[in-house]
Amino acid sequence: MTRRSVPGPGTRAGPEVYEGVVQDLIDELGTLPGVGPKGAQRIAFYLLAADPADVSRLVTALTEVMERVKFCRTCGNVAEADECRICRDPRRDPAVLCVVEEPKDVAAVEKIREFRGRYHVLGGAISPIDGIGPDELRIKELMTRLADGTVTELILATDPNLEGEATATYLARLIKPLGLRVTRPASGLQVGGELEYADEVTLGRAFEGRRLLDV
Ligand SMILES: [Zn+2]
Repeated sequence: MTRRSVPGPGTRAGPEVYEGVVQDLIDELGTLPGVGPKGAQRIAFYLLAADPADVSRLVTALTEVMERVKFCRTCGNVAEADECRICRDPRRDPAVLCVVEEPKDVAAVEKIREFRGRYHVLGGAISPIDGIGPDELRIKELMTRLADGTVTELILATDPNLEGEATATYLARLIKPLGLRVTRPASGLQVGGELEYADEVTLGRAFEGRRLLDV
């Protein structure tokens, strides 16, 4: 599970103290976000002691997600077909588009069960330090979607941190000539945080009290 962009020994979870395959498993687990060397070791030994049927289900889930999940050609969300189920759903309001950074943010907004519009997933946020500029995000695709005039309100629900704010401001300026209603979820979300960690009530209130973004 070495991330393709971060190859090399730097991804190892710690000194090699176990034999072959066990150490390989610990190394792979150690590359996952939020799993340190100790966590990797704990998960590895949990798996070794677990019911083989449970481990098989995990393996199957991993294989299937690799084989079957793609990204929606319209919004960029994860999907099992060319379009995700939200884009295919005719009951969703095509006039309101919620722009988020990642597919996990779609899941976070869906949890509040109040938003009935559609989404656009940027694939990240503008971050010069990480070499991510507007061209690395799905902004061209967003502009194409806005071109036919169906969308009348754009909710910029990027994360309430530095990169998210910068991205929202950039988009608001870019979109201004189109004359859309451009809003941003109200403050109350933890500043510096990420959308996915906001609880449903807070996120629901932030959406309800969204303010016009004037740039
Ligand atoms: Zn979609």
